[in-house]
Amino acid sequence: MDIEPNVDLTQFRAEVAEFLDTAPTPEILEAGRKTTSAFAPYEQVMAWHRILHARGWSAPDWPVEHGGPGWTVEQRYVFADEHQKRGLPPLLPNGLKMVGPLLMELGTPEQQERYLPGILSGEDYWTQGYSEPGAGSDLAALSCSAVADGDDYILNGSKIWTTLAHHANRMFMLVRTSREGRKQAGITFLLLDRMDYPGMEVRPIIGIDGAPEQCEVFFTDVRVPQSGRVGAENDGWSVAKQLLKHERGGGAQSPAMRHRLDVLRAAAAATPSPFGGTLAEDAVFQRDLGELEADVASHEHFEKLAISGHPIVDDPAYPSLNKVMSSELTQRISVLMTRVVGLDALPDQRAALLVGSDTEALGDDLALIAMPFYLNSRATTIYAGTNEVQRDLIARSLRA
Ligand SMILES: Cc1cc2nc3c(=O)[nH]c(=O)nc-3n(C[C@H](O)[C@H](O)[C@H](O)COP(=O)(O)OP(=O)(O)OC[C@H]3O[C@@H](n4cnc5c(N)ncnc54)[C@H](O)[C@@H]3O)c2cc1C
Repeated sequence: MDIEPNVDLTQFRAEVAEFLDTAPTPEILEAGRKTTSAFAPYEQVMAWHRILHARGWSAPDWPVEHGGPGWTVEQRYVFADEHQKRGLPPLLPNGLKMVGPLLMELGTPEQQERYLPGILSGEDYWTQGYSEPGAGSDLAALSCSAVADGDDYILNGSKIWTTLAHHANRMFMLVRTSREGRKQAGITFLLLDRMDYPGMEVRPIIGIDGAPEQCEVFFTDVRVPQSGRVGAENDGWSVAKQLLKHERGGGAQSPAMRHRLDVLRAAAAATPSPFGGTLAEDAVFQRDLGELEADVASHEHFEKLAISGHPIVDDPAYPSLNKVMSSELTQRISVLMTRVVGLDALPDQRAALLVGSDTEALGDDLALIAMPFYLNSRATTIYAGTNEVQRDLIARSLRA
């Protein structure tokens, strides 16, 4: 596949670069520098989403009929590359990359008309309500119940690890509508059009990095309309699996990884090594950085194959392979980052990390984010299905 720049792509790259150099506000740039997880600071990333939407560029992967820009796969990659190498905050994935594409495939025309515009424009943020205490890897064991009552369902139970639920105004979730037969056969996929239904309570969880990124959500006799159901009642397992393919498989993450490695290489060149010279001249550091660069390059090739429509995407192992590779690369980059920063990573700088904070940071941007990024990235091999379980799925697919 040829995705090297040709004349058209060069012009396109220049047009994208000009916009990305001028459109972000100082707060959005600061949020990009202070992004320490897959989820950039909420207010600024949503503001950036709306700016991109105004330019028609919020959803590069969406088809034109739903508001996508109609770019080729090469253009989409160039856009991701230019966006990520500037360290701009990545748009939140739950709407654009998860429930949006799902609704295009399986939603009713009414659901598409009602929900896709808000996802495209950045007016809505959807949180994902799959996991429960006791239902993570074994998701089909979920017990949050929905009992039909007239045109509504009455919900009782709880969800956990719902990312940014304290900011969300919508939620897609799995509920138990039957206890007959196999546990997978009694699950229904539901869209909630509000997060403030009477009986709903959202409680943030403070993560290992000190940030409230995930939440618990409790439901006590919450009445919601059945019109939010996607697919048939008790057929939610197949809908959920379809959405997980988007969650695990989608997007080009390697440009962001390359950007992080570029930053690390430059920082290492300015960091003294305890053995003399700079860290960048240290043989062990060079080996570790080189290995990571080679692995990121091979992951980039894998992602390019996929976004160019290569049949590998249809292999059932693809989403799991992609998830395992990208999550483990992220963790390795975070380890290298703490090695470059050294002891400067140790102070607790949560106050300075807030966008717009008056607290002066100790050290440079890298010192500010190294430890929270390292700590937060421990979760990459857990969320979207743990890597142990993904390896199981890959093995099963290879055996088939
Ligand atoms: C930061 C973060 C964000 C998240 N965001 C969301 C969200 O927005 N919405 C949502 O619904 N959920 C979310 N999750 C939940 C996530 O999907 C679950 O944590 C994950 O599926 C694992 O489930 P669990 O935590 O119950 O662990 P468990 O399933 O209890 O697993 C515990 C350990 O046992 C291992 N294990 C379990 N079963 C097997 C098996 N069959 N073979 C081999 N090993 C196994 C696991 O690999 C793991 O190491 C998030 C989690 C985190 C950490």
